[in-house]
Amino acid sequence: MQPPAPRRWQQAWREAVRDPRELLALLGLERLAAGLSDAAAAQFPLRVPRGFVARMRPRDPHDPLLRQVLPVLDEERVVPGFALDAVGDAAARRGGGVIHKYHGRALLIATGSCAVHCRYCFRRHYPYAEDTAATAGWRAAVARIVDDPSIHEVILSGGDPLALADHKLAELTDALRAVPHVRRLRLHTRLPVVLPERVDAGLLAWLGDLPWPVTVVLHANHAHEFDPAVDAALARLRATGASLLNQAVLLRGVNDDVEALAALCERGFAAGVLPYYLHQLDRVAGAAHFEVDDARALALHAALAARLPGYLVPRLVREIPGEPGKTPLWPPSPRAAE
Ligand SMILES: *Cc1c(COP(=O)(O)O)cnc(C)c1O
Ligand code: SF4
Repeated sequence: MQPPAPRRWQQAWREAVRDPRELLALLGLERLAAGLSDAAAAQFPLRVPRGFVARMRPRDPHDPLLRQVLPVLDEERVVPGFALDAVGDAAARRGGGVIHKYHGRALLIATGSCAVHCRYCFRRHYPYAEDTAATAGWRAAVARIVDDPSIHEVILSGGDPLALADHKLAELTDALRAVPHVRRLRLHTRLPVVLPERVDAGLLAWLGDLPWPVTVVLHANHAHEFDPAVDAALARLRATGASLLNQAVLLRGVNDDVEALAALCERGFAAGVLPYYLHQLDRVAGAAHFEVDDARALALHAALAARLPGYLVPRLVREIPGEPGKTPLWPPSPRAAE
């Protein structure tokens, strides 16, 4: 028998750009080649779908989308305080790909794969191969959720959970249907933004058939990440009844000015997405050049709040190991100042 033909999104995934020099050539930026880091690319390879490349501005060395994906020499700098496990995931791992840090919510590292590799990603050093939830039919992850009646929300994260085929996703949700204390399902995914082809009929059929309210938390950092194909994908997602939120990371040279942040929030809303979190960067090795200090972050957030309606202002937060949830930078918490 012939294997089934790859779906359109899988084809687009496979055709992603993986060679930094090819990416520069596509943008007419060959002259930036001297600033590339082969060491950084070996540790965490370049990967970017061609549809996302098409949203970059040709010949602009400061393009905010390019900066998010290009492996550069800055990543080789060793900066004190920037570590391999920046958010304490190692301590919170419960086995089976489950991270249970916050009350009522279990986060599943569904898979280690992503369609795009973001240079600032706090999971760039995560030992995925050892511990993802989808291996062995999700059995260990489901067992942990079944055993803990305090878990009311299951969060599929990664990597990117929508990197999994629909039948893999259905395998998990079919098992969870029988668990009475599960009340909500959440997906943390960048795929509808970087590879909108993923939001196809098969995915929509799976989503539309789930017995729980579904929240899709997207990840876009700049207004230029939206285009008509993304808008259409988000409209299809919303039509299933899912709530759409966005989390962004505050990134130097990408979105660290009030115009860029306001444009991101307004552009997202035009596509049916409410802002959720604006994250202070996790201090992961190789990402120090993206950091915005807290004083500037707070000033930017205040300027954003002065300009936009309250519902378009994301919460400015940081992840602190051992805390019961994301920690807001404002108002300052006594513990965060320690
Ligand atoms: C961020 C995160 C969550 C979700 O937190 P919310 O504030 O509910 O969005 C859950 N579990 C882990 C491990 C997280 O890092
Ligand atoms: S999509 Fe998310 S998990 Fe994947 S590389 Fe980017 S930030 Fe990391």
